[in-house]
Amino acid sequence: MTSDAPAQQRTLVLVKPDGVRRGLAGEVLRRIEAKGYTLVTVELRQASDELLAEHYAEHAGKPFLAPLVEFMRSGPVLAVVAEGHRVIEGFRSLAGATDPTVAAPGTIRGDLGRDWGLKVIQNLVHGSDSPESAAREIGLWFPAL
Ligand code: UDP
Repeated sequence: MTSDAPAQQRTLVLVKPDGVRRGLAGEVLRRIEAKGYTLVTVELRQASDELLAEHYAEHAGKPFLAPLVEFMRSGPVLAVVAEGHRVIEGFRSLAGATDPTVAAPGTIRGDLGRDWGLKVIQNLVHGSDSPESAAREIGLWFPAL
């Protein structure tokens, strides 16, 4: 490999149960690919309580954790590892702000989501927020990678 090859990164993306239920999993994959990132692996999974407790460990003690885990267990999620230069911040940018009602139009959450007035914010997708989170989350969801 040449020394000026761009540094590659991987991120964990989840299409949450609301996205899978609404038939938007393909649209999320389309946007990842259209942006020029590579799909490393894609798998429809029913997440366990244990996996979700680990995945959301940083939110331990927060009031929305229990409803969030319940929501994330309410149906299958599409677990995706995507790869590319700066893909972690790139996917966060594609996803948009946490609150889909005010997420910018043009983003996944801004175009396809809204606040439904439920106790947990159903915002279609998750994306790792740092290289450390990405490594931890990919290790949890895809230990063989
Ligand atoms: N969440 C929620 N209420 C809040 C904050 C977060 O329901 O007040 C949910 C929401 O689904 C969010 C997830 O918890 O996507 C994780 O929160 P985080 O702050 O990490 O937001 P994200 O990185 O997903 O934008």
